[in-house]
Amino acid sequence: MDVEQVVIIGSGPGGLTAAIYAARAALKPLCFEGFNAGGLIPGGQLMFTTEVENFPGFPEGILGPKMMKAFRDQAARFGTRFVREDVIEIDAKSRPFTIRSESHTVQAHAVILATGASANWMGVPNERRLADSGGGVSACAVCDGALPMFRGQALGVVGGGDSAIEEATYLTKFAGKVYLIHRRDQLRASKAMQDRFFKLVAEGKMEPVWNSVVLDVLGEKALTGVRLKNTATGAESDLPLRGLFVAIGHTPNSHLVRGVVDCDEKGYIRLPHPPHSTTNIDGLFAAGDVADHHYRQAVTAAGSGCMAALDAERWLAAKGLI
Ligand code: NAP
Repeated sequence: MDVEQVVIIGSGPGGLTAAIYAARAALKPLCFEGFNAGGLIPGGQLMFTTEVENFPGFPEGILGPKMMKAFRDQAARFGTRFVREDVIEIDAKSRPFTIRSESHTVQAHAVILATGASANWMGVPNERRLADSGGGVSACAVCDGALPMFRGQALGVVGGGDSAIEEATYLTKFAGKVYLIHRRDQLRASKAMQDRFFKLVAEGKMEPVWNSVVLDVLGEKALTGVRLKNTATGAESDLPLRGLFVAIGHTPNSHLVRGVVDCDEKGYIRLPHPPHSTTNIDGLFAAGDVADHHYRQAVTAAGSGCMAALDAERWLAAKGLI
């Protein structure tokens, strides 16, 4: 079996930027772009986003799927080869690495893991329908919150952690009012975030909905509200909303390398030599959200994909493999 110089796993902004750089460095990368691992599809989380307005270079904004097609086309133009399957196994203990998907088994000297993270959803019946159709349910306020349909409207954020407060704070710039729906009556968020939250509550921009879980989201084509259940009393009620942002955490898609690659307690891959993309496994690099619980932006993932490709290229050269 021929040994690939570099295999890239993942096709979000991190993986595809790594592919562009690796291809231009004549490393002939092979990219497993995935199929539906982690609930994602080729292109990653941006495939579930509508207008992307914060990626530099697109002053009028660009649709997430259109942007990811452009990333992919650019990677293909320089010779990236793609396999549209989920990787189901990586043997990172032996050299070269072995990577297996349903119908392909390949070996590679270097691997760039860019499998991303998947937003956690509540799992209520109509949530994904109104999320996937752009009907007003989203897992990313920074991605979708500034859309015209949310301007001046009542919006909800689910969660009580730092992400929920951050998203809710961001939404107050556009919304008429932001309701923070939390299953307890105490926030998990840090003190600084809590201070920010209670200041906005005092200013009337935000309102907590304590002890409440969402039973379902309401509306046919567009969200009209949520059905809530009070966790203390069991009482059900409807809250009219035009947008709902679910901020109950992300799960990094690092399961392929758990137990081999060093991860933090939440499963994010640790990068022991920042800013480098090297992991504790020599020759295995990580890019994008699978190694980033902090920024989680398309542009930061793309930047880290560039860094991973440069790191891999230098590593291959230092080992005399190119
Ligand atoms: P998180 O801290 O795990 O908080 C998740 C929140 O969602 C919790 O309040 C939790 O409720 C709630 N939740 C979880 N599952 C739920 C469900 N099924 N239904 C309803 N509510 C649910 O996650 P995060 O806020 O995304 O933060 C992740 C990490 O990133 C944290 O370490 C955080 O500090 C960091 N972060 C930092 C910043 C910043 O500093 N600017 C910004 C964002 C994130 P309970 O509280 O009841 O468990």
